[in-house]
Amino acid sequence: MKFPAGLPIGESWIEPAATIPVIFPYDGSTIADAPEGDVELARSALDHAAAVRETVGRLPSHVRRKVLQSVHSAVLAERDAFVDLLVLETGKPLVDCRVEIDRTLLTLETSAEEVARLHGETVPLDLLPSGEGLQGFWVRKPIGVVVGITGFNYPLLLAAHKIAPAFAAGCPIIVKPAPQTPLATLWLVHLMRSALADAGAPESALQLVTGGPEVGATLTTDARIGAVSFTGSAAVGHRIARDAAPTKVLLELGSNSALVVADDADLDAAADAIIRGGYYASGQACISVQRVIAVESVRSELLARLGARLPTVVVGDPRDPATRVSALINPASTERVRAWVGDAVHAGASIAYEAPGDVLGPIVLTDVPDGLPAWDEEIFGPVIAVRSVPDVDSALAAVNATRYGLHASVFTSSLDTAFAAIDRLDVGGVVINDVPGFRSDVMPYGGVKDSGTGREGPRFAIEELTTTRMAIIRPR
Ligand code: NAD
Repeated sequence: MKFPAGLPIGESWIEPAATIPVIFPYDGSTIADAPEGDVELARSALDHAAAVRETVGRLPSHVRRKVLQSVHSAVLAERDAFVDLLVLETGKPLVDCRVEIDRTLLTLETSAEEVARLHGETVPLDLLPSGEGLQGFWVRKPIGVVVGITGFNYPLLLAAHKIAPAFAAGCPIIVKPAPQTPLATLWLVHLMRSALADAGAPESALQLVTGGPEVGATLTTDARIGAVSFTGSAAVGHRIARDAAPTKVLLELGSNSALVVADDADLDAAADAIIRGGYYASGQACISVQRVIAVESVRSELLARLGARLPTVVVGDPRDPATRVSALINPASTERVRAWVGDAVHAGASIAYEAPGDVLGPIVLTDVPDGLPAWDEEIFGPVIAVRSVPDVDSALAAVNATRYGLHASVFTSSLDTAFAAIDRLDVGGVVINDVPGFRSDVMPYGGVKDSGTGREGPRFAIEELTTTRMAIIRPR
């Protein structure tokens, strides 16, 4: 971790009076005292961003691409140190932090490439008689100052998904990381500001303010911003959308993702995917498997195969490469997850498996009734709930019977079932025979219903963060 003290605001780093401890969730130790921003610093960042809006919007494509390429190289050179830092500030297992850094690198690389694809097109205006003789084309223009707000679970990757497309599009951006996990983002911002300085571009193109809801609200309700790009919970996202109106708000929110097991599924593949997709990042992932909906005829065999695999899931110290599940972000989260499991059992659900030990490990619930948070809400912990239904049609209906809609998986060997799922599931992405957590930068990523609006993945985020400007010319 090698970056200046303070917060990157304007052209320098400003040290606020207050700090906030960053805690290693596994043992509760303090790993650093991070600078804590406030409303005044947020306003100052907005002033600086507004002041460089024109300059950043006019940076040539070769400069924007080069800056992003340089950041990619700088992060790559520090790959292992980033992984170690991510493990400490998130408590996420090492294997998941390695995935996070590799996906961050792909986001930076793809965003740099997308700069070369940012173009408009000509249009045939003479389709209308009144358009005869007119020349028409449209170009993309940056939307203006972007505010990027991120959740705690994948701090570096989520920040990269805000910063890199915004800059590729020609927008200055202010980032506000989650208070629990600001360090990797601060480091990324430092590396990118160094690349900006090397390119002769204003460092104010990228600023970072730490803090909680008050700082977030100051940033998102300022009339000078062009868009808010938010990743976090549905409750906070909906509040931002309400308060920020009429500013454009892109929301990447939570889910209680479903995985369907059809009667013709490969049960070993399904059981492997449920465990891999349900417990990675200790279940703290927006597209981790929460609801398993199995056709009745395969239920008991599926539970048997899960039961055979679950004891092999290593729970413990996230620094150990063998660990797959570790402590949640804080004790309050663990208490909430345990309470939701308790409520489900009280209402008639059974616990089919519970890992032993002090750290909350994998739990499998069965037959959680509707209306309970362990089924209806996002549990965001290492808990999956298995329910059986008579047939595939009922399974697809059960996937849709929720307020969320991010990704869903279906395990089947039938092409008809696969296409029925792609056609009927009300989600942002349907995965056949793999985990719902699959995500890559070449695809549009996002949700429907309470899982969000707008799409990420650099190409799609750049579309969201630009507006079209139409040119209509009557040559003389
Ligand atoms: P959270 O909603 O509690 O906080 C997210 C961010 O919002 C934090 O930076 C927080 O400080 C800020 N914030 C809180 N109140 C605010 C306000 N009034 N105005 C502006 N900002 C405010 O979420 P979290 O617990 O940090 O993250 C977990 C959530 O994020 C889960 O729901 C998860 O599913 C979701 N998530 C979604 C995706 C996705 O791509 N869809 C990816 C990762 C995480």
